[in-house]
Amino acid sequence: MAASAEKKRFVCMGIESTAHTFGVGIVGSDGKILADARDMFRPGPGKGMVPRDLSEHHTMIAPSIIATALNGAGLEMDDVDVIAFSQGPGLPPCLNVGAALARYISIVHNIPLVGVNHPVAHIEIGKLTAGPTDPVILYLSGGNTQIIAYAEGRYRIFGETLDVAVGNAFDVVARMLGLRSPGGPEIERLAKGGSYIEAPYVVKGMDMSFSGFVTDAKRKVTEGVTPADICFSMQETCFAMLTEVTERALAHTNKTEALLVGGVAANKRMQEMLRTMCEERGARMEVVDSKYSGDCGAMIAWAGALAYKSGQKTSLRNSVILPKWRTDEIEVTWLR
Ligand code: AMP
Ligand code: MG
Repeated sequence: MAASAEKKRFVCMGIESTAHTFGVGIVGSDGKILADARDMFRPGPGKGMVPRDLSEHHTMIAPSIIATALNGAGLEMDDVDVIAFSQGPGLPPCLNVGAALARYISIVHNIPLVGVNHPVAHIEIGKLTAGPTDPVILYLSGGNTQIIAYAEGRYRIFGETLDVAVGNAFDVVARMLGLRSPGGPEIERLAKGGSYIEAPYVVKGMDMSFSGFVTDAKRKVTEGVTPADICFSMQETCFAMLTEVTERALAHTNKTEALLVGGVAANKRMQEMLRTMCEERGARMEVVDSKYSGDCGAMIAWAGALAYKSGQKTSLRNSVILPKWRTDEIEVTWLR
């Protein structure tokens, strides 16, 4: 049945395809996550992510992931009232797979289409699962690193990486060390046996840089520094930089909650550092449910549901992918 803006209860399907993961989630308008199916492309040993390989993976896997999500929710495609998709930012060939599929579903099933900003979806699934109301958000993933807070209708970026994302830096260093993909969890595992050696700590105002660390790690590998020491130092250095900037954002905004989201949010050392800082300030610290910290369809479905509830829809004309779409360009109509 086609949904109307007046419809109080509805079911939203969300498609995620910005980068490595193709995911389909289904949520109710009340925030109940009914299904979340996904598959992550894993490059071979020593290989990086090639956008064409990723988009091919997404195209091939899409039908079975949609079927798994519908089965998981116990629904048919006809039960879905709204179709949401990751409109950006991301890799164009990957974004196009999800966008084309969502347009097709919208047309064939005559249901509204909602284009979702991927970082905003990470934030909203964090809020849904962790429960904070008005936090400073530390968003750490493979493609993005931002310190964000809501102010006057938008999620404003208070600080961000000047070059590579922290998750990307972890993945590149892991590849150098011959670890399997994704690199972040492997670095966390190896770091347990390591000790600290000095590494580039680069904070400029509210922004950070991680590429110097990657170059430095490359040199250390050739000098024979142990992988454990490199991994330990990477966590301590990068996470201290992120914690410093988050603390300043809390002080600046007078907010009393910090929320950690994105794939890197699963890292226990990152959580610990942020928690210690928050405790010292008397602030609350929350982390997205680890089931939904990485890219997934559920986060797109929930952000789409919030946008739709507040009257947003995306016309076919406006459904073109936005590979460089920034977090602070979105009107957060559902918080007004
Ligand atoms: P996303 O792009 O949000 O799906 O997040 C994926 C990124 O999170 C990749 O760069 C992973 O290496 C990273 N990641 C996942 N788990 C961990 C972890 N435990 N520690 C550090 N990074 C992680
Ligand atoms: Mg992401």
